[in-house]
Amino acid sequence: MSDILLTTLNAKYIHAAFGLRYLLANLGELKPRAAIAEFDINQRPLDIAEQVLARNPRIVGFGVYIWNVAQTTEVISAIKRVRPDIVIILGGPEVSYETALQKIVELADYVITGEADLKFAEVCASLLASSPSRSALPKIIPAELPDFAKLALPYDLYTEDDIAHRIIYVEASRGCPFTCEFCLSSLDVPVRQVPLPAFLEHLQRLLDRGVKQFKFVDRTFNLNVNVSKAILEFFLARHQPGHFFHFEMVPDRLPETLRESIAAFPPGALQFEVGVQTFNEDVGGLIKRRQNYDRLEENFRFLRTNTGVHIHADLIVGLPGESVASFAEGFDRLIALHPQEIQVGILKRLRGTPIVRHDLEWQMIYNPHPPYEILQNKLIDFAMMQKLRRFARYWDMVGNSGNFVSATPLIWKDDSPYRAFMRWSEWLHAKTRRTDGIALLRLMELMFEFLTVESRQDPRTVAATLWTDYKRGGRHDKPGFMKDYLMEDAPETESRSKTALPKRQARHLV
Ligand code: SF4
Repeated sequence: MSDILLTTLNAKYIHAAFGLRYLLANLGELKPRAAIAEFDINQRPLDIAEQVLARNPRIVGFGVYIWNVAQTTEVISAIKRVRPDIVIILGGPEVSYETALQKIVELADYVITGEADLKFAEVCASLLASSPSRSALPKIIPAELPDFAKLALPYDLYTEDDIAHRIIYVEASRGCPFTCEFCLSSLDVPVRQVPLPAFLEHLQRLLDRGVKQFKFVDRTFNLNVNVSKAILEFFLARHQPGHFFHFEMVPDRLPETLRESIAAFPPGALQFEVGVQTFNEDVGGLIKRRQNYDRLEENFRFLRTNTGVHIHADLIVGLPGESVASFAEGFDRLIALHPQEIQVGILKRLRGTPIVRHDLEWQMIYNPHPPYEILQNKLIDFAMMQKLRRFARYWDMVGNSGNFVSATPLIWKDDSPYRAFMRWSEWLHAKTRRTDGIALLRLMELMFEFLTVESRQDPRTVAATLWTDYKRGGRHDKPGFMKDYLMEDAPETESRSKTALPKRQARHLV
């Protein structure tokens, strides 16, 4: 039994809670009196409450995020009814702003806003030293920005089980100097760098323990070119098959010195999440996101031509000033740059972000429930926004999944990719009336029908393309609906290359 329980509901089991490990690492003398218990949002809130109560803690710290706030509210509600004496402390981005408006804050005893790595220890020490009922602490406790030089790094807290089964998150810097109004990181200034020698020592220990895949949570990994280069060179010197590194990048900053290191990695080893968000300069101006589009396009071309980087590019639907036509133009422009994946994100109104200043002028109406997605605005009505939401979902299933790498471009053979994919998206929705739970074979069959009947393409070409995609996933059973259109396969001259990369990214490695 521990006096302090650190807990959160992860979006999926494979997401290890990075924030909790930072809190535990920095508990100082209280560390032996604390433990971590992780759950995920698919577990029943009462079952989670039961497990928390069974540990009989005096203090429970909850990490609250946009993806878990609804379920966490239920968990805390149950705990407080059964054991009102347990002190509940909240932290995390979802409760760092607009605290007065939130039910979950009402239920909790304390909320630490901002980066709580050091503040949590201070609050726990104060609570454990006195009776909580006599504590002089205010309910809302703002944390000062912690100095990285004073922070204990949390990497030794990843267990063998984490290493075997979960995504390992790491961080070389915090904060972002840019001011995109929809993004919480725009409030995180100044940018702070983790002391590099200590960070590299921890990375080495993780490599020695067998970690092969690292996800960097830095908002702009390529901001400090010297640090980014040092980290890339560090991994390059130790590269082994199956290594995979994910970084978030700003797209218009890729100097020659970084390009050399990036190009030296083998195909599939690096994934860059590149936020484009909009190609409309007026919209970029409205939301204070200025970028050099010529340089952005040149960097995409470099990455796709000279490197094996897997690009995951982000575009947003629903920004103030962005019409459907302008989004469509941006989507087509991005397709022409050939990123392996495009995340079409629906604008969310994150608590605390300055995007709300456009609410009146652009008639921005958001869903009041998390994840607070836009429902309509002055330029896109609700019905159209729903079509775009489906477009985004189906794009993920078809364009991003890696299951249709060769067949996806057939959808827009002679047309604008946006227009053609929207036609397919609406056709698919009319047929299935759902945006999830469509089995891969069923999706293939529907795509075959759409391409051959609706688009009137040659069934043999379509079948051969779908079959190539299907085999890429390691399958060899010819689906019945296209057997008649497939020629006998030539014997395979070389065996399919086995790779330890994440499955979706591996399928994109054509
Ligand atoms: S969107 Fe990216 S560049 Fe803009 S503020 Fe957020 S993290 Fe920084």
